[in-house]
Amino acid sequence: LLSLHLPPTMRMTAADGTEYVAKQMHFHWGGESSEISGSEHTIDGIRYVAEVHIVHYNSKYKSYDIAQSAPDGLAVLAALIKVEDYGENTYYSTFISQLNNIRYPGQSTVLSDLDIRDMLPENVHHYYSYKGSLTTPPCTENVYWFVLASPIMFSRAQGWKLENSILDHQNKTLHNIYRMTQPLNNRVVETNFMNLPNERSEFQLYLTKLDNKLENLKSLL
Ligand SMILES: [Zn+2]
Repeated sequence: LLSLHLPPTMRMTAADGTEYVAKQMHFHWGGESSEISGSEHTIDGIRYVAEVHIVHYNSKYKSYDIAQSAPDGLAVLAALIKVEDYGENTYYSTFISQLNNIRYPGQSTVLSDLDIRDMLPENVHHYYSYKGSLTTPPCTENVYWFVLASPIMFSRAQGWKLENSILDHQNKTLHNIYRMTQPLNNRVVETNFMNLPNERSEFQLYLTKLDNKLENLKSLL
C-alpha cells in the first residue's frame, strides 16, 4: 500500500456533525495493462483508473487504534482518479515525482508543502455515502464511506507513473492493488446531490485551513 501519513490537524465533519480525524491517505490502482483500471468503487458500472482513500477516525475516540474496533470508528473519504488526455495535474506533481524515491517496500520519503485539499476534486460537496467495510484487512464493517462524485483528473503520463513506479518484494511492478467490488447486501447507498432543491450540502471539509504539511510518505508493503 502506498500510504501518506497525515497530521491529526486534518479533519472532516459529516452531515450529522460527527468529526473525523485524518490518519492516512493511500492509493489503489490496477495497471497490469492499459485495459485494467484499479478503482475500488465503480460509478454506474464504470471502474476508474485509480482511487485515493483518506482514512479518518471518529474524533470521539482517543486514537485510531481504539477507533478501528468501534462500530462507529472509521470514515473514509474516497476520490476516483480519471486519466484522459488532460494536462498535467500540477497539484500532484510533487507527489508523483517523489514516487521514484519509494520504489521499494518499506522505503519512505518526506514531502513538504503538499496541500491535500488541492489533491482532491474541486467539488467536494457532492458524494455518495454508505456504511461499509475497510477494503484491506481486517476489512471491518465499521466504515462510513464518502465517495466524491467528481473525479480527480490525471494526465496520461501521471496515470502511467502511478501505475508503474512501485515495486514489490520480487522487484516486479506492483499492480492491481484493489479489492473487487462487493455485493451490496441491502446496504443503502445515498447521494446528497440528486434531486436536491439547491446545491447546499452540510458536508464540510476542514482541510485547507489546517496545517496540511505531510511528514511522511511511506510505502507500506
Ligand atoms: Zn483503500
